Amino acid sequence: MNLLRPREQVRSIIDIDYDRLYRLGKRALLFDLDNTLGGRRPARLSPEVVSLLESLTKMGFRVGILTNRRIGTKDRVIVELAAKYPLRYRAGKPRKGGFKEILEQVGVPPRKAVMIGDRLFTDVLGANRLGIYSIRVRPT
Ligand SMILES: [Mg+2]
Repeated sequence: MNLLRPREQVRSIIDIDYDRLYRLGKRALLFDLDNTLGGRRPARLSPEVVSLLESLTKMGFRVGILTNRRIGTKDRVIVELAAKYPLRYRAGKPRKGGFKEILEQVGVPPRKAVMIGDRLFTDVLGANRLGIYSIRVRPT
């Protein structure tokens, strides 16, 4: 398996077939933040993204956020997300530690988890190495 190859590639998180992921037995969705839940460095989440995350939770997924951003407590978007979802900043992707921590927090094993992010060398590589299903978001 090519560790830098995502299992799926989409243009946006709204293009992902979440019903299919659920049917495949996936129960946790781990989202990257920058260029995934928003633009390059979003200061806030759009209402659409907020409601998408809520509906995914209602579908039965555990949602977690895994970001390499370094600042946590003074960053409004991170504080807002962390109030609702397990979140790990300064995650050190692609290293395994952050992935393992967030999986523990959501209580789902790697084979039932999906990592959704834009970067091959952090999000995709880290997920593939642990056997987490990888989806790359690549705006065109
Ligand atoms: Mg990113």
